[in-house]
Amino acid sequence: MSLLRELKTLLEHEQRLGGPFAPLPAPVAQASRNAAPGERGPSEAIRQAASAPGDANDDLFDSGTEQDKTGGDEERGPSPYARIHALIPEESPLREMTALDDVEAFVRNTTLIPLDERRTNPVFGVGNPAADLMVIGEAPGQDEDLQGEPFVGRAGQLLNKILKAIDFEREDVYIANILKSRPPNNRNPNATEIRAHAPILYKQMAIIQPRLLLCLGKVAAGTLLDRQDSLGAMRGVFHDFHGLPLLVTYHPAALLRNPSWKRAAWEDVQKLRERYNQVSPAA
Ligand code: URA
Repeated sequence: MSLLRELKTLLEHEQRLGGPFAPLPAPVAQASRNAAPGERGPSEAIRQAASAPGDANDDLFDSGTEQDKTGGDEERGPSPYARIHALIPEESPLREMTALDDVEAFVRNTTLIPLDERRTNPVFGVGNPAADLMVIGEAPGQDEDLQGEPFVGRAGQLLNKILKAIDFEREDVYIANILKSRPPNNRNPNATEIRAHAPILYKQMAIIQPRLLLCLGKVAAGTLLDRQDSLGAMRGVFHDFHGLPLLVTYHPAALLRNPSWKRAAWEDVQKLRERYNQVSPAA
């Protein structure tokens, strides 16, 4: 579609539905869905392979195997998931784990930083364990700490709307944070906390094997891209995270404070949807 037509469609859509982040009209809305109900889509097959202990999956994260969604072989080098897995320190118990449930139990039962002792609940992650899109936030807030689930407060409700506007249900994607424990008074995570918890996210990525990453806000983007830049400097283009496309957009909490940024965020997530349709075989 030409840029002009795309803008026209967007404006018409916004007029009809009262602003960005309401559901898209039909043609785009039909483009998604992983597998049909009851059907075992490719993502599901991979997830089950990743969860099975022992046998061939022992080297799931070592070299890039047949099960890897984006491949990885001698010619192309290690898959993105093998490269991301290699970011986990060698001495970390996470290295040996192959199932998401085991990683969750590790997070629940382990104190890596003082915040882990103060939390009401760890906030591990939620959604489709075989998702092709992973959405990454910063750290749990009060609501998330109480419920043990990411993005359930006001920012979470806006995130749900944003996802819906590009034809995703919350359950279609996987949502996680850099930090699994709430920092007091919602302060930014510090470097020590990020260093301690980021390997958990790397492990989640290695098991879930998303094809696309969306970072919400400066902390998530800055951590994964190892950049100190402003959000404005990082948003709107696809970055490369060890072989996976990564898009940065505004954190929904920032959009609640500055509604004028919604248009830019809307442009970002439309790009995300477009890329998703290219990289996800189920789309
Ligand atoms: N903000 C985040 O970055 N993550 C959450 O889970 C909630 C709010």
